[in-house]
Amino acid sequence: NQLNAPEAGRVISRFGQHADIRDAEGNTYRCHIRRVVDSLVCGDSVLWSRASAEQQGMQGVVVAVQERHSLLSRPDYYDGLKPVAANIDQIFVISSVLPSFSSQIIDRYLVACEDIGIEPVIVLNKADLLPEIDETERQYIEQRLKDYESIGYKVLNVSSATQSGLDALQEMLKDHISIVVGQSGVGKSSLVNQLLPDVNADTNLVSDNSGLGQHTTTVATWYDLKEGGALIDSPGIREFSLWHLEPERVARCYVDFRDYLGGCKFRDCKHGDDPGCALQEAVGNNQLHEWRLSNYHRIIETMKTQKPSRAIRG
Ligand code: GDP
Ligand code: ZN
Repeated sequence: NQLNAPEAGRVISRFGQHADIRDAEGNTYRCHIRRVVDSLVCGDSVLWSRASAEQQGMQGVVVAVQERHSLLSRPDYYDGLKPVAANIDQIFVISSVLPSFSSQIIDRYLVACEDIGIEPVIVLNKADLLPEIDETERQYIEQRLKDYESIGYKVLNVSSATQSGLDALQEMLKDHISIVVGQSGVGKSSLVNQLLPDVNADTNLVSDNSGLGQHTTTVATWYDLKEGGALIDSPGIREFSLWHLEPERVARCYVDFRDYLGGCKFRDCKHGDDPGCALQEAVGNNQLHEWRLSNYHRIIETMKTQKPSRAIRG
């Protein structure tokens, strides 16, 4: 079977020794992965060769992976860190009015985004419920979101129920490779269903003569967006949080701490009630939000207790 000259393609999904590759025209081909190509993941930019005739259900061969701009990995009990998706450049951290809004959970995602160097966007979904909740709770949510903006984060209010804010969301997705993350129940499925036109479900299917069947939806999958750009999605990706972060790194991933971290009196300052803590001082001078520092401490605490089970669960 003859192979044609290598061309550029994108990994739509990977399963075992095979991958579905999309070409420049938007067509998808089931390909064998050449052995020298290691750790191919969804989102990878590749060189592949089309076969002149389909053989055992394979329509081509992936021959090389291009350099990655980013990599999302998760801990695996057997393999250490296991790559999950490549080239993501934007992470939508979905929160919602109900179940109750938690800045601590948002902080965990923001820290994780900083750690791998991918820009987060904070999304408040179910904004349609804002007028219905308790006045104090509403003010609390609005103040936290304002604070996030003052730190420098992009914040967006949307409602997948009324579709408000979805245009702005779509505009931000354009020309980016994005994922959505967030706690269960915040409305990720509802949002993704709105963002992905039905055709996607079909364009993502390749003719399956390989006998392998269609890959399951648990595998990270690339979806082209109508307006340009792409969404990578899978249940596992939506759960991405502090998969493998060292507690020592968390403080440096709080972007608003950075100006002060070097200023603590003691090198091993825990930023609690240690004397000469520059972070505490910044809180006292209203340069730093107190709630960010207390979230930080709670994250460090929970990481200590959760770490072993996380690694084993992989
Ligand atoms: P996921 O677990 O994050 O994927 O959340 P789902 O998309 O399954 O949504 C959880 C629940 O919230 C469902 O009952 C949705 O109908 C509801 N929901 C999702 N988006 C909105 C919204 O914008 N407004 C309201 N009021 N409810 C929503
Ligand atoms: Zn300190």
